[in-house]
Amino acid sequence: MSDVTSVELKSLMARVPSVERVMASAGMAPLVGEYGRTQALAALRRILDDWRCDAQAGRACVDALGEARLVQAVGAALAERARGKVRSVFNLTGTVLHTNLGRALLPDEAVQAVVEVLTRPANLEFDLASGNRGDRDDLIDELICELTGAEAATVVNNNAAAVLLVLSALASKKEVIVSRGELVEIGGAFRIPDIMSRAGAKLREVGTTNRTHLKDYDEVIGARTALLMKVHCSNYAISGFTKEVALQELASLAKARQVPVAVDLGSGTLVDLTQWGLPRETTVRETIEAGADLVTFSGDKLLGGPQAGLIVGRRDLVAKIKKHPLKRALRVGKLTLAALEPVLRLYRAPEFLCERLTTLRLFTRPADDMRNTAERIAPALLRFVGEAFSIAVEPMFSQIGSGALPVDVLPSYGLTIRLASGKRAGRQLNALEKKLRELPRPVIGRIADDALRLDMRCLESRDETAFIAQLQALDTRA
Ligand SMILES: *Cc1c(COP(=O)(O)O)cnc(C)c1O
Repeated sequence: MSDVTSVELKSLMARVPSVERVMASAGMAPLVGEYGRTQALAALRRILDDWRCDAQAGRACVDALGEARLVQAVGAALAERARGKVRSVFNLTGTVLHTNLGRALLPDEAVQAVVEVLTRPANLEFDLASGNRGDRDDLIDELICELTGAEAATVVNNNAAAVLLVLSALASKKEVIVSRGELVEIGGAFRIPDIMSRAGAKLREVGTTNRTHLKDYDEVIGARTALLMKVHCSNYAISGFTKEVALQELASLAKARQVPVAVDLGSGTLVDLTQWGLPRETTVRETIEAGADLVTFSGDKLLGGPQAGLIVGRRDLVAKIKKHPLKRALRVGKLTLAALEPVLRLYRAPEFLCERLTTLRLFTRPADDMRNTAERIAPALLRFVGEAFSIAVEPMFSQIGSGALPVDVLPSYGLTIRLASGKRAGRQLNALEKKLRELPRPVIGRIADDALRLDMRCLESRDETAFIAQLQALDTRA
């Protein structure tokens, strides 16, 4: 970096054109037309200020002050600012319900319903039969009860909110008994003990990490007990010398002692997934039938709907929960309700579910289908990654994600990118992974064992075309 004398600097600064002149130039007119004068002017000022800073540091280039160059820079700055921060990506991580990538993708029915409710007034809290004020839960609770066998239901913003609300409404200043094997952290700061203290409930731990018996619960139930709680072991599995009290047993004890049992199912599926060859996961209906008084679960995990927390169970308990002030604070918006209803309705026809419910379609995608996708996109990808890399179509394993069935994996197909020289390629692979992430629609893969893996499970045919088109567009630019 060269030092700039004050005389040089003065003469450099004199080269900066007047803002008014650049604004009046022919090239600026379309930008002012598109983005408005205020934004265009601010962008130009920022560019000129940056240039002055560079000049002071001895690294400014006078060419950059040409009218055409400035207009171009303003256009680029405005386009960058106008680009949304929330962006679509290609999820080739192999994790279908990827919490960081927005979890469940919704079927078209749900998308249509959201568009309608966004652009037209709706009966969100308006009872069309009586013309009186309604309750937004009334739009959806019958359907939830039909699908789960529960007496009553209410919906909040997410499952963490559902658990917080249940504990606040039923166990504030009282004790909640939980097995030490179920004091889980789900990720993103959701820990059962923390949520318990937030709700003002006192956690009463029983048993040990690997073994809890019915008598452990029995011994501590007392006058201060508000709730027995079971929590689904999302994200991990305890194996070996273990003992968990079955819900049925716990529910009989709870009934005898007149204390309700709440189950946080986490993912909470509404159907038996083994009919599609997927791993077994207890359904919400089975949980209710086994004697749970309340069940909480997510809307955007295995259910395949929008972000939401569903609370189902005994009518008197749900009524009490709905009266708690937090229910108002945690309630869902109309977008959520509009999206949730059509997703739930798909469950009335389970025989079509694996075509119509996007998440289930992704879980059950045939291996051939994924292999064909991999083969079709490989040539365009090979041109993009360049000769330093080799690409192979290989079997791999996808995951369901979001803590559902953490130990089970789904056989899948994808592309494995390695260094053509066969060398270990940490740095180059990281650079390539970054390059894919910087595409207009970023491509998210995963690096493992000296290879970048792109899992085809979530690249359905509609997206396949877009994937190839994006790479080809770059090809012609180069
Ligand atoms: C995922 C999960 C939660 C949190 O659900 P969100 O819908 O993400 O708020 C709570 N409990 C369990 C057991 C979970 O698996």
